[in-house]
Amino acid sequence: MNSNMFFTIASLVYSILLISIYFSKKRLNNFENKIYALLVITNLIGIIIEIAGVFVAFYTNNEILNYVVPRMILMYFVSWLFLFTTYVFFISYNSYKNKDNQITNNLSKKILNVMVPIYIGLIILLFLLPLYSFVENDTILYTYGPAVTCTYIVSGLFLIICLVCIVKNFKNIKSKKYLPLFAFIIGGLTAMILQAISPSLLLLTAVETFVTFLMYFTIENPDIKLINELNIAKEQADKANNAKSEFLSNMSHEIRTPLNAIVGFSQALQEEDLPPQAQEEVKDIMMASESLLDIVNGILDISKIESGKLEIVNTEYSTKKVFDELVALTKARLGDKPLDFRVSIDPTLPPYLYGDYVRLKQVILNLLTNAVKYTKEGYIEFKVSTVKKDGICRIIASVEDSGIGIENSKIDKLFTKFERFDLEKNITIEGTGLGLAITKKLVDLMHGKIVVQSIYGKGSRFTVAIDQRIVDKKVIEPEETLDEFVLFDATGKKILVVDDNKVNLKVAARLLKDYKVEVVEVDNGYECIQRIRNNEHFDLVLLDDMMPKMSGVETLKHLKEDSSYSVPTVALTANAISGMKEKYLSDGFDDYLSKPIDKNELNRVIRKFLDKK
Ligand code: ADP
Repeated sequence: MNSNMFFTIASLVYSILLISIYFSKKRLNNFENKIYALLVITNLIGIIIEIAGVFVAFYTNNEILNYVVPRMILMYFVSWLFLFTTYVFFISYNSYKNKDNQITNNLSKKILNVMVPIYIGLIILLFLLPLYSFVENDTILYTYGPAVTCTYIVSGLFLIICLVCIVKNFKNIKSKKYLPLFAFIIGGLTAMILQAISPSLLLLTAVETFVTFLMYFTIENPDIKLINELNIAKEQADKANNAKSEFLSNMSHEIRTPLNAIVGFSQALQEEDLPPQAQEEVKDIMMASESLLDIVNGILDISKIESGKLEIVNTEYSTKKVFDELVALTKARLGDKPLDFRVSIDPTLPPYLYGDYVRLKQVILNLLTNAVKYTKEGYIEFKVSTVKKDGICRIIASVEDSGIGIENSKIDKLFTKFERFDLEKNITIEGTGLGLAITKKLVDLMHGKIVVQSIYGKGSRFTVAIDQRIVDKKVIEPEETLDEFVLFDATGKKILVVDDNKVNLKVAARLLKDYKVEVVEVDNGYECIQRIRNNEHFDLVLLDDMMPKMSGVETLKHLKEDSSYSVPTVALTANAISGMKEKYLSDGFDDYLSKPIDKNELNRVIRKFLDKK
C-alpha cells in the first residue's frame, strides 16, 4: 500500500473518534453548530472516499469507478472548504453578542442563498471537466488536468474569502478562539503548495481533519459553547438588571416629585379652615397618595432584593427606640378602628443590640400593618420575647390578630409576590401583595425565620425570630424625643431651600410657612454656594440632590471645602429608595428628608436644628 496513506489512516481514526465524541454530547442547535456537524461528517466521508480512491487506483481497472472516484475526492475538498468558508463567513459577520434571532436567521439565509448555487455549480463543473491520471507501473499515482486545476483555484478562492472575513471582522471572532481558522489557512496553503509540488502526497485531507479536530477543542466543543452561551446570557441579564434598577430608581424619583406637590399641598390644606366636605376630600387625597407611595416603595424594595442589591447594614441601635417607634406607628395606623392593641415587650430585652434595625423594623411593621389592615374588630397583640445565649439575643416578635384569618390552602402562597387572598372581602383594603414577599426575603437575608399560624375567620399569628448581637453598654438617657409633632414659632430664623423644581420649592415654602421662618428659594447649586460664600446667614439648608448641572452631593462638597461651613444641611430628595438615608448621611449631610415631605419628619428636622437655639 502507498506509504502516503499513513496520513489518511491516522485521519480516519481521529475522525471516527471526533464524530463519536461530538455526537454523543448535548449540542446547541444553531446555524454554526449545524454547519460544524456537517463539516465533521463530510470530513469522515472524505477520508473514506480517499481510501476508496487509493484502492480503485491500485486494484481495479473499472472505467466508471476510475472516472467517478477521483472526481469525488475533488468534490470532497470543495465541499469541506465550502462548509468551512460558510462557517467562517457566518461567525465573522454574526457578532457573537448578537442575540437577535431574526438577524441571525436572516444572515444564515443570505449566506446560504449565495453559497449554495456556487457550490452546486462547482460540483457539476468538477463532474464534467476532464481529469487525467498519471500512471506509472500500471497504477495511478495522482490525477491532474482541468478538474484538479479548478479545485486548486476554488480552494484558493475559498481561503482568500476566509482570510478577508477574519481580518475584516476580527472583533466579532475575537471572543472565540480563532486559532483553528488561522491554522487552517496556513496549513491549507502549505498543504496545497506541497501537493502541487509532489502531487502523490495525500496531505489536504489530513490538514482538514486536523483543523476539524482543533475546532472541536477550541470553538466547537459543546461544553465550551454552552459555557460561552451561559456567560453571554449572564452578561446580558446583568445588563438588563442594571438597566431595570436604574429605570426603577428614576421612576421612583419621577413619581415622587409630583407626589411631593400633592402630599405637600394637601397637608397644608388640612390646616386651613375648610368646609367639612373639602376636609374629607383632602383626607382622601392624602390617603390615596400615601398608598401610591407605599406601592412605589414596595416595587422598589422587591426589585432591589431580587437584583441582589439590597444589603444588610448592621449598626448599633437602641432597642427601646425601635420598639417604641413600632408601637407609635401602629397606634397611628389604628386610627379610629375599635381594636384593642396589646403590647408586651420582654423587660430583659438588652438596651443595645447590633444588627440592621431598619430592616428589623420594616419586617415587624409590615406584620403590624397587615394585622391592622385585616382586622375589623377585636384585638391585636404585639409580643416580643427573647432568648439570650453566647452574646446573641434572639428576638422573637409575634403579631396576633382577631382578623379575617387565612385559609389553610393559601398559607403556602402567602410569601409569593403579588398574591392577595379573599379579594371579595378585601376589595376595600389597599394592598399590592408585596408586603409579605418583601418581609420573607428580608427575614431570609437576616438569617431569621418567619412562621404563620391562622384559623380562617378567627385570626392569624405571624412570628419572626431574628438573631442580633448583644452590645454591652450602659443605658444612655434617651434624648428628648422628637417624634411628637410640636409646632413652634421660629421667627427670625432663615432657611435656604435649593431645588431645581419650582413646584417643589413652593411646597417647601408652604410647609415652612407654619414656622414663621424666612425662606429663601434658589433653583441650583451654584447660587446656593454663591449666597453662602457671600456671607449670607442661614440657620438651615434644605438641599435637593438630583439637580441638573450640579447635584446636591456635589454642592455640599463645594460648601464643605470651606472648613468654617457649619450650617446644618439636610438632604431633601425624591431619591428615596431604602438605604438612601444612610448614603446621604455618609456623604456628609446632617439629616435626610424624603419627598414627598412628611409633615412630622419636617417637624422633627426643624426642631432638631432650629428649636435649640
Ligand atoms: P398586601 O397586604 O399588600 O395585599 P401582603 O403581602 O402584605 O400584601 O399580604 C398578602 C396577602 O396575605 C394579603 O392580601 C392578605 O390576603 C393576606 N394577609 C396578610 N396578612 C394577613 C393578616 N394578618 N390577616 C389576614 N390575611 C392576611
